[in-house]
Amino acid sequence: MDENSIRQRLLDLKAEVSGRIRAIDRDIRHEGMSADWSEQASERENDEVLESLGNSSEAELAQIKAALLRLEDGSYFRCDECGETIPAERLELLPFTAHCVTCAEKMQA
Ligand SMILES: [Zn+2]
Repeated sequence: MDENSIRQRLLDLKAEVSGRIRAIDRDIRHEGMSADWSEQASERENDEVLESLGNSSEAELAQIKAALLRLEDGSYFRCDECGETIPAERLELLPFTAHCVTCAEKMQA
């Protein structure tokens, strides 16, 4: 994968995740939804699900933006932690990862 296609892929992902965040925000504010009292309890439960979904999308968006910056400064292909080259197959699966498998596993542990 060359840098241009990686950049394009990250930009596509960024647009997709931003769109998702906007849709979630709209749902949480219940724009255009009915104000039926009987529906409000289930809406509140739904809001909690939406909020956690929104938070993980925000985190994903931050990672994508960081990956785009790393692509610009040339550190995209290197692990943030150990400086080793991140295998292309891993970047193919997770284009916004900043870590090699070894470091990612260490950080999760
Ligand atoms: Zn590493």
